[in-house]
Amino acid sequence: MENNIKPEEKFNLLADLDGIKCELDHSGDPEGSRPAVNYMMLQLVSGEMVALPICKYCEYELSRGEDFEWYLLVCIKCSATKWLYKANCKNDYPEQVHFIKSCPECDFRYMHLETDKIQ
Ligand SMILES: [Zn+2]
Ligand SMILES: [Zn+2]
Repeated sequence: MENNIKPEEKFNLLADLDGIKCELDHSGDPEGSRPAVNYMMLQLVSGEMVALPICKYCEYELSRGEDFEWYLLVCIKCSATKWLYKANCKNDYPEQVHFIKSCPECDFRYMHLETDKIQ
C-alpha cells in the first residue's frame, strides 16, 4: 500500500488511535467495527488526504498480496468503503483496492442537490 506519510507523522497518528474504531466496512461483521491499529492513507477527488483508521483484520487482509480474498471498494468522494468477497464477485478488478468515483450515498446526495436546483 502506498504510504507517503513521514515517519514522525505516522508516530503522532498512531498515538491518537486510543479508543478509535476501524473505519473500513464492517457491515457484515457480527462484532461491528473493531479497534483500529493502523491507518490507511487515501487521497480524495478534492485533493484532500485522509487517514482512515483500520483494524488488524482489515490490515491483515490488505497485506496478503496476491492471496487476498476480499476486494476493497473505496469511494474517492467521501472515503466510504465496501468489502466484496472475491469468490462472489462478477467483476474482476486489477487491484485489491479499487477506487470508485462515487458510491450510492454520494449518488443520493448529488441527486438531492440536483432536485433542489430544479425546484
Ligand atoms: Zn476493519
Ligand atoms: Zn461516496
